[in-house]
Amino acid sequence: MNDTATHDLVVHGDIALSNGMVLKAGWLGITNGLVTGSSETPLSGIETVDAYGHLVLPGFVDAHVHTRSCRDEGITATTKAAAAGGTTTVIDMPFDKPARPVNSRERFEAKVADITDEAVVDVGLYATFPPEGDLGIIAEMAAAGAVGFKVSTIEVDPIRFPRIPDGRLYEAFQEIAHTGRVVAAHQENQEIVLAQAKAFQARGDTTPVDHALSRPAVAEAEAAGRLLELAYWSGARLHMVHGTLPRTFELIEWNRAKGVRASGETCIQYLLLTMDALREQGGRAKCNPPLRSQENVDGLWRQVQEGLIDIVTSDHSPYPLHRKETDDIFEAYAGMPGVETLGTLLYSEGVATGRIGLGRFLELVSAGPATLFGYSQKGHLEAGADADFVVFDPDAEWTLDESKMHYAVGWSPYHGRRVRGRVVSTWLRGRCVYKDHAVAVAPTNGRFLPARDDDDRSSNGSRESYSNDRA
Ligand SMILES: [Zn+2]
Repeated sequence: MNDTATHDLVVHGDIALSNGMVLKAGWLGITNGLVTGSSETPLSGIETVDAYGHLVLPGFVDAHVHTRSCRDEGITATTKAAAAGGTTTVIDMPFDKPARPVNSRERFEAKVADITDEAVVDVGLYATFPPEGDLGIIAEMAAAGAVGFKVSTIEVDPIRFPRIPDGRLYEAFQEIAHTGRVVAAHQENQEIVLAQAKAFQARGDTTPVDHALSRPAVAEAEAAGRLLELAYWSGARLHMVHGTLPRTFELIEWNRAKGVRASGETCIQYLLLTMDALREQGGRAKCNPPLRSQENVDGLWRQVQEGLIDIVTSDHSPYPLHRKETDDIFEAYAGMPGVETLGTLLYSEGVATGRIGLGRFLELVSAGPATLFGYSQKGHLEAGADADFVVFDPDAEWTLDESKMHYAVGWSPYHGRRVRGRVVSTWLRGRCVYKDHAVAVAPTNGRFLPARDDDDRSSNGSRESYSNDRA
């Protein structure tokens, strides 16, 4: 690149490039919030970030957060925590409180306006649709920029987070296929889960670990298989959120081999915690699908290494402790905060342990989710990308402390855990959003990221061929 150019900002450090290689002690140039390129020789800039000896990574992309599943949290606290954890893009779920699911064009546009006022990092949005009514809203919300449509096969809340019956899913998958956007579903079989919960409660088996024991693996695997069938017959792109079982990803892989357009996500908690965390932490460790056995955890790590798992997310869904620490585990809210620790924990348990390389790490939490959701300007540090980056100290050894995190709810299931690697500073489009343990900007720095159509993703035409092949 032209080394006589003066950049707005230059960064000097070990720069992670898209091919998984690291440009040691290299230089990254940034102008107008965009990466202009990288260089082995010094670049000049109005401002210099000295990250010598540290990694310069593309900002992390957490494709599964719930900013509004808890009213105490909201967009600002969630995105502050994201910035503190090196995450510069989050994709938010539509099941907002109080009872305001993002299931109409008006609500979608209202949430976009709120992001502009409240977000510290960039935000993409899932939409959803109600169990009844006109499905034309799917095309409307896709046009408004929704990355996809999130639904559930199990009722979490009758208004906010309802079960979408199979007959409705069948119709909706066909509508979503027309848009080219993903469909994502909370995959648990409602009948199995409710019958088991009833039986456990009738026996008085209501200790924390009974939550995991009462939600058997078949409930997830059956629903996952059902969704993959719907994707096969409709031609819709299915993104399988929060898979907890190796079998879920085997089903995805088998279906992919048959031409189904499907991707798979696990969450960091399913790689780090087993159901023993319920015994140790009680209701804090309640999430859905539940934490599983060590055998499942080991299997998921193998699939992370082999590439069967496409992305890792946090499923950040924080609740205050009085909603979590109940006498009867079936009364406790399900969900845990995690957006602040996603990148650090995956680095510490993945890269620092040698289980995965830096390139695979970035596929899982940066380039992979950016590509999956069509954000070509995110997840890499090549010329033209948004200058979203993290200065990361790969050698720092420290202890996670929930009292120092940025969550409104004030706790973390990883409190007290030793980790290796630490976010030093986080930059969004060339502006510092986190440094010296503090979030550095007002909550208007973040932008809404509309999903865009591109030729790869658009289903125009392909749906017809799917239908014809499979009729
Ligand atoms: Zn979720």
